[in-house]
Amino acid sequence: MCGVFGIFNKSEASNYVYLGLHALQHRGQEAAGIVSTDGERFFSYKGVGLVNEIFNKKGIISSLKGRIAIGHNRYSTFGDESESNIQPLQAHYDLGSIAIAHNGNIVNAIPIKQRLVRQGAIFNSNSDTEVIIHLIARSNRESFYDRLVDALKELKGAFSLIIMRENELYAARDPWGFRPLSIGKLDDALVFASETCSFDLIGAEFIRDVEPGEVVVVNSDGLHSFKPFERKDERKCVFEYIYFSRPDSLLWGRYVYSMRKQMGRILARESPADVDIVIPTPDSGVPAAIGYSQEIGKPFDFGLIRNHYVGRTFIEPAQSIRNFGVRLKLNPARDVLEGKRIVVVDDSLVRGTTSRRIVKMLRSAGAKEVHLRIASPPVVSPCFYGIDTPTRKELIASSHTVEEIRRYTTADSLSYLSLEGLKEIVGGSGFCLACFDGKYPVPFDK
Ligand code: 5GP
Ligand code: SF4
Ligand code: MG
Repeated sequence: MCGVFGIFNKSEASNYVYLGLHALQHRGQEAAGIVSTDGERFFSYKGVGLVNEIFNKKGIISSLKGRIAIGHNRYSTFGDESESNIQPLQAHYDLGSIAIAHNGNIVNAIPIKQRLVRQGAIFNSNSDTEVIIHLIARSNRESFYDRLVDALKELKGAFSLIIMRENELYAARDPWGFRPLSIGKLDDALVFASETCSFDLIGAEFIRDVEPGEVVVVNSDGLHSFKPFERKDERKCVFEYIYFSRPDSLLWGRYVYSMRKQMGRILARESPADVDIVIPTPDSGVPAAIGYSQEIGKPFDFGLIRNHYVGRTFIEPAQSIRNFGVRLKLNPARDVLEGKRIVVVDDSLVRGTTSRRIVKMLRSAGAKEVHLRIASPPVVSPCFYGIDTPTRKELIASSHTVEEIRRYTTADSLSYLSLEGLKEIVGGSGFCLACFDGKYPVPFDK
């Protein structure tokens, strides 16, 4: 995933970026960074962990001076977890300095990098984003804009980018429009962000999305828009609606919350369950479970209580406590469940291990029947456009039927939202559905 945020023309710009990254924390919890400029020098601070852990020391934010700043939340998809891969990446070249924050995955980064290395380029990181910097620096066009377009035209795959120069910000989205990127306004400042929930936090007003294939420049002359790429069919990532984006974000013209609720409603129409109560897998399954409950007319309840303090530190616990697994995060509310027939609704099923543990947990808390409903179709193919999905082997639905998965999870029944149902909800053909249908819109070399 990853989150990107940038602001132009605001005093204490880095403070706003800090808040923006905080609102985008769900898009990446591995590392974060902010780079600012006062028009001459660049100031930067990066670290591993959550945004509030990285920037919590007094004086860090105030040392990131200037009225322009960009930031990034990292969720590693390409490149290892070493510090040199933490964004925004920075470089000095013949036109000055740049910093770049990237969300997405460039599927042809490896061949481009091999070519550049043969030509003598030296790479500091193994992130696909650094390729963009090299392409910009090596283009022999005169203006920065022309160099940027030269570079971006070589890329295949997903990029929602924010680039900072001494006196301007650039924002760009790949021609397929895989990842979101929106434009907001705060007094005289312009803001770019992965999701609109970050505008709400800083009091900015949403203006519009950066269009697929659009390059936007903001500088002292205002905002300028360019469409330098050949037109492509849009392929926005449907998983943004299902799981990645925050429910309070306005994404591609629709609120994520209502989309998820609708997924639950259609799922209920397709696969109703004869139960006493509807419960979600918190938090991701909540809107879909509410939709499901409203559609079948049975009460919604919280049968699983989530511990909100399970951070990254618990992702790789010592072997001795690893077996506690999902219990670290979820605990059943016995009085809600005892003696009841339950349907549990989740947004997606990937490996199936979570669902299996949850079904067992609900039964051990006294549930009489446990029916599992998944508010998206079976995930059969890995993503190559910026999501760290497991390999095909680990995707249970790539090699098992729904009945086999049901048996594995030990649920009394299991149904998924149909692909037709999902298509109807999102409407039109402008979406990537590759993880559900295996039809990759941008070819790549495995
Ligand atoms: P699994 O079936 O792999 O055991 O887990 C399914 C759960 O993982 C669902 O509750 C869903 O919300 C969550 N999930 C879906 N996609 C992703 C992802 O890309 N990253 C993470 N961390 N969780 C995901
Ligand atoms: Fe999104 Fe799936 Fe397409 Fe990846 S493959 S961009 S997760 S819809
Ligand atoms: Mg979940």
